[in-house]
Parts: sequence; C-alpha cells; structure tokens
Amino acid sequence: MAVSTRRLTTGARKHGYAVPAVNVFDEISMRAVIAAAEEKDSPLIVQVSTKTVRTSGTAFITSLFQALTRHTSVPVALHLDHCPDRSVLSDVIAAGWSSVLFDASDRDLADAERETTEVVKEAHAAGVDVESEIENILGVEDGVGSDEAHHAYSVDQLAAIAERTGADLLAPQLGTSHGLFTSKPTLLPERARELAHLTDKGIVLHGGTGLEPADFRAFINNGVSKINISTAVKHAYMQASAEHLDWARANNHWDPPKLMTAIGDAVTSVIGDHIEWFGSDGMAAKAKAVKP
Ligand SMILES: [Zn+2]
Repeated sequence: MAVSTRRLTTGARKHGYAVPAVNVFDEISMRAVIAAAEEKDSPLIVQVSTKTVRTSGTAFITSLFQALTRHTSVPVALHLDHCPDRSVLSDVIAAGWSSVLFDASDRDLADAERETTEVVKEAHAAGVDVESEIENILGVEDGVGSDEAHHAYSVDQLAAIAERTGADLLAPQLGTSHGLFTSKPTLLPERARELAHLTDKGIVLHGGTGLEPADFRAFINNGVSKINISTAVKHAYMQASAEHLDWARANNHWDPPKLMTAIGDAVTSVIGDHIEWFGSDGMAAKAKAVKP
C-alpha cells in the first residue's frame, strides 16, 4: 500500500528538495502524474480533493491508486487534500491512505486545536499521518476556502499548537493563494524559515501554481518539504483536451483513446517540469532509505 507522507517529507527536508503533491481527479490524471514521477525517478504524493472523494467514492480511488502503484519503482503516497468534514476524514483514515489534511481553518482557535487533536489520535491509531491547517490559505479550491484571511496566528503559536495536537505536517499561510494569481503575490519564505527553526514537522506550500522556479527554490531552502500543485494539472488537462478536440473536428477523427493519450502526455510533461524545479528528480532511492 501507499508509503508514509511524513517519511517522504522528512527525507526531502534532510536532502534539500520538496516532494511534489499533485492533485488528481480521475484515472487519466492519476496515471499521468505517476508516470512523471517514474520518468524522473522522484518520490510523489498523489492528492485528491474532498469533492473528488465525494464524487468518485473512497473505495474507487483507493482501488485505482493500488492498481496504478502496484509495480511502481518510486515511492508514492496517497493524501486527502483540504477536508473540514470529519466523516470524510474517518472514511479515508479507515481506508488506510497515507495522510489527510484536516482543514480546521474555518474553526476558532480553541475548536481547531481540540478537533485536530481528535483527528490526529484517530489517524495515528490507523497509521495515517495528518497535515494540519488552522490558518486559512487564501483562495477557493473545489468549493473549500475563502478569499479573506479570517484566522492568522504567529509562528510561535503555530509551532506550539502543532506540538500539542501531534500533527505531522503544517500548512501555514506563506503568501500564496489557491487558483491562478490575479496579481503577483507577496511571498513569505522567511515565515517558513522561522517556523522551520521552531519545529521539525513538515512544512507545506499550498497554491504554488504560477510561481517561478526561483520562488520554489527559496521556499525549499527555507524548510518547505511538500509543495501542492493543482491548478497547473487542471490547466494542462483542459488545454490538451481543447487542442485535441479542435484537431479531431478539423480531421473528422473521433477516437477517445487518442484524446486520453494527449491529455496524459500534457499532464506528465507539466509535472515533470515541477519535479525538476522542486529538485526531487533522482531522489527515489534516498526517499525510500528514510527510516520509519
Ligand atoms: Zn491547498
């Protein structure tokens, strides 16, 4: 089954790279991102949104992941992205995924801490790691999130709360936002560094689509070990679909497997670029060597 997300990010921080955590929503995209990781010999985290879990079902996604990773040469984890819903979390934890992101950023601090502690207890009992988000990351993605900062805390508070809840990874506000940027964001790599000085827990960058390779490197050098990529996948998927359908119409040639190949190749290519920017290419063996 899936490898531990915490082990992958621990190895990444030790060796100075970030593990790409890529959102997928169907067989084509899951197959394509795993192919990119294999081509580049990179560890990988396959992520699925709560919305996709609700649409496709936990059992189907779990089986699909198992089928597609049965013979992979690289370590691949399976992660539930932003989930504020305790029943979906319980379902995924019971299915034995690598990790879940409990998104408590819509709760007040006291409730966020209490509920995160409960989720960590439930997840750890099943061998599942927990990413914790108590500050809200700007932007709306698959129906989760907000464009306003409701909850913002100091790095000392974030580190102290993470220690008390027992979470394995942290998703702080680092200046990015979900979706495509409308204006150049003010990035906060120094905030990642301050947090990395206070805790060994994995630090996660959300909303990375549209950043320059040098921006990713600055975050990684300051302690970020997991970088989420979602919008870039959706964009590559839809652009390749549109181009292929234009071609199909022009040539009156209607062959679904050709469309699927065109989409898969585009997604594999864009994720291959991100893997190189994150420095995780060629790191599969180092990732596998991290002790539990
Ligand atoms: Zn996110």
